[in-house]
Amino acid sequence: MASYRLRALALKKTKLGETDLIVTLLAADGCQVRAVAKGARKPGSRFGARVEPFVVADLLLSRGRSLDVITDAEIVSGHGAIRSDYDRAQAASVVADVLDKISVECQIDDRLFGLAEATLDAMEGAEEDALLVLVVAFLVKAMAMHGYRPQFNACASCGAPVGGAVSTYSLEVGGPLCEGCEAPARECAHASAAVRGTLASLMRATMAEAAMLQVDRRVLVDAFALMRAFVRYHVHARLKALDLYAADICR
Ligand SMILES: [Zn+2]
Repeated sequence: MASYRLRALALKKTKLGETDLIVTLLAADGCQVRAVAKGARKPGSRFGARVEPFVVADLLLSRGRSLDVITDAEIVSGHGAIRSDYDRAQAASVVADVLDKISVECQIDDRLFGLAEATLDAMEGAEEDALLVLVVAFLVKAMAMHGYRPQFNACASCGAPVGGAVSTYSLEVGGPLCEGCEAPARECAHASAAVRGTLASLMRATMAEAAMLQVDRRVLVDAFALMRAFVRYHVHARLKALDLYAADICR
């Protein structure tokens, strides 16, 4: 049977039969791979812990008839702090959920895995207060990689600079609209200057820099709400972890 090696991040696991799992993976080349981990749910399985969500592992797979089968796994980054801490796990679940929905089988995108690793590594070591800013930074960057690069400073329609404390923000185009271009569209939200400034900074920042960014909590919650609306507008799938996270931070 033909075998191949793959470095991948486990995004999701689904039960299969009595003791097996189907693991959804983001491979290092950005492709999504679904593979079977046989016996992974047996007590004491050597796979169980190595294909858990948020683990990056070097895998050996063999070609199967429909799904390939994981025959060996070596942990590269276990992200143990994420897996053992509720708040970290909630934040990382947003990352895994969005990656699960935007990555595609056999569609290479080199940047996606790098973003995933940088985000999870930052979440692993960050202060708990910094988890939200990392989630927001991830959403901005992931959407840009997904082909929807949001803008924050100039009118998305005519390019004029956008002033004003609060501006209309087009979810469809992914940018603010100046007073001249503003239309009473359903697909609009509002974004304050502080929210737009924060999101523009996060777009430019590395994940390590984002973790250190000092942002007023209310501004950050509004920035999260805007990016969540933007993601929901363009990603046509139910994002359960994103919804749960939103309910959590607004509590
Ligand atoms: Zn305009």
